[in-house]
Amino acid sequence: MLANSLVELDRNHLIHPVASWRGHEQAGMRLLTHGQGAWVRDGEGRELIDGFAGLWCVNAGYGQPSVVEAATRQMTELCYATGYFGLGSEPAVRLAARLAEAAPGDLDHVYFTLGGSDAVDSTIRFVRYYWHARGLPQKQHFISVEQGYHGSSTAGAGLTALSAFHEGFGVPYDWQHRIPTHDLYRNPVGDDPQAVIEASRSALMAKVEDLGGAEHVAAFYVEPIQGSGGILVPPAGWMAAMRELCAELDILFIADEVITAFGRTGPLFACADEGIVPDFITTAKGLTSGYVPMGAVFMSDHVYQVIADGAGQAAVGHGQTYSAHPVSAAVGLAVLDLYQGGLLENGRIMGERLQAGLASLSDHPLVGDVRGRGMLAAIELVTDKKTKARIPAAAQPATRIFDRAWDQGLVLRAFGWGVLGYAPPLCCTTDDIDQIVARTKKVLDLTLDDPDIRAALR
Ligand code: PLP
Repeated sequence: MLANSLVELDRNHLIHPVASWRGHEQAGMRLLTHGQGAWVRDGEGRELIDGFAGLWCVNAGYGQPSVVEAATRQMTELCYATGYFGLGSEPAVRLAARLAEAAPGDLDHVYFTLGGSDAVDSTIRFVRYYWHARGLPQKQHFISVEQGYHGSSTAGAGLTALSAFHEGFGVPYDWQHRIPTHDLYRNPVGDDPQAVIEASRSALMAKVEDLGGAEHVAAFYVEPIQGSGGILVPPAGWMAAMRELCAELDILFIADEVITAFGRTGPLFACADEGIVPDFITTAKGLTSGYVPMGAVFMSDHVYQVIADGAGQAAVGHGQTYSAHPVSAAVGLAVLDLYQGGLLENGRIMGERLQAGLASLSDHPLVGDVRGRGMLAAIELVTDKKTKARIPAAAQPATRIFDRAWDQGLVLRAFGWGVLGYAPPLCCTTDDIDQIVARTKKVLDLTLDDPDIRAALR
């Protein structure tokens, strides 16, 4: 009963992110009430394994007592401290120092935000300020990658390369550009890793040329693994090659690790997988494991020094009331303790099991591609393995597959073009992972029985 009245209130008053508003009015909300470890409970008392860690953010798992205690203690002692007027709080300083220590290379300076979108937005502003301070204000253009996602702030949504974030919103702006994705499964140059890397390098060089040369280009913004674009993993060496090219061209290289950081692919930062040191890294999500909102911009020392010298005694006019919020920072420290105290290691082991388990479904008639790294994975469905024909829109993959999984007690992400996404909490047990795989098999079998799929199957 309570659930029913909440669904009604939700329908009338709560606007949901990235939703069809009319569709949501019809379908109504599914209520979540509890979470423990890798499991959540819905409004009807059903227990589900959360194969997507909320929105790929609850990396440490639900209900961790040390995180709850840290937040409670901090709220009791000091619920808020501004960073303005030269003030600060102990957890914010300690978290910045520990993160700087753990981050690759000279990424020694941390600016805290409220989430990923404003981490991207802050970075765009810092990049502009940097080039201005270097006396090169004409370096204005940003380049990102098709299928990339960089949040939905006014500026970030234009770097995002997914049409739903553009249409009707007046973005991208004329300083925002894209090169094709490195997608290994559907790349026009084929699936040879070297050829894909070469194609991306050439595309970036050509784009820079088109824009009048590197003296007009500010930055290249990229995810180590494209998340919201369908969990697209670049070939090994792709990130390093692009990083090297940007350094040659004197273009800032920015890694958007909002999804990939904090153990999602194994280490604390995915850039560590390829030994890369970007000029900036943007993060959020796993930083506080979804317990409270927080994001972070990591800035390399050479960028920081230019901005600091450029401003001199003047204020660098960028800030938010809740930057470096002490409760979020206390949560961040508690979560970091968990990661470094064994969760990263567990995530590595479970990640291997997840990848192997999902790969074992490759022979299923609907499975075209299985890909991923660590605790981040995808299955791409097709109706014809040879031609890689996508499953038809009439089969409504986003809703029907999501619903089937839910009925099996599994939360996953179902992308509208027939991709199943996985990002379970790092605290999963072997049984949790095996359940995710077994329930996925059931979902695939049920999907095979869908008349709209059957009609398209070859
Ligand atoms: N950047 C990337 C790579 C993301 O995946 C996301 C969110 O999924 C964002 C930025 C935006 O983060 P938020 O939703 O916290 O604003």
